Amino acid sequence: MVSLSDINELERLFKVSNKHACNKMFCTTCGGSFSNIVDNVDPNSIKTIKDVLKTINLSELDKYLAKWIPVLDHFDSDGYINIFIREANQLDLSDINAVDRFLIRTKGINKKYNTEFSTLYRKILEYAISKSVSESHESLAETVILVLGKKKAKEYHGLLEYALSVSRHNNKMKRVLYNFFREEIEEVRDFKGDGNTNLGWY
Ligand SMILES: [Zn+2]
Repeated sequence: MVSLSDINELERLFKVSNKHACNKMFCTTCGGSFSNIVDNVDPNSIKTIKDVLKTINLSELDKYLAKWIPVLDHFDSDGYINIFIREANQLDLSDINAVDRFLIRTKGINKKYNTEFSTLYRKILEYAISKSVSESHESLAETVILVLGKKKAKEYHGLLEYALSVSRHNNKMKRVLYNFFREEIEEVRDFKGDGNTNLGWY
């Protein structure tokens, strides 16, 4: 559990070092918050960043500090990835929805940079792939296909067969298969959906 006074202190320090920038994190005109904080932050803030990253969990990060993630990652990239390692270690694998949320949340995280995280992540993903098929979990199957991407998803024939059967009644799944595999899978080729084949969050 992170200390809320540390969070408040961190936000105060960021605001002080950020006084010359507009509200954007990256800005071509003024440099944005990122370069202003990086240029002006004092050593005490870096210590506070490290302290916070040691204790914060992923939902607290998203709740309190989502806006400052690029800055936190810049000053303490090990501390930042450790949040995800702790989350992976504590993940309740019997809770399929929690596994689903974890995979969606970590989609943009660089998996190659840290061996410990990439090993844990790989295990969770493999588990989710087999579980989505064996438990007939449509949302998890959709998530793992999106996370795997077109090239890798193709290697999991059981998963794709299951996804195809789901797509006969589930338009979200049909849209995913259409976006990735309309060249390969004849059955989804004529899918027009609702006219919008872009997934908002993808
Ligand atoms: Zn600006």
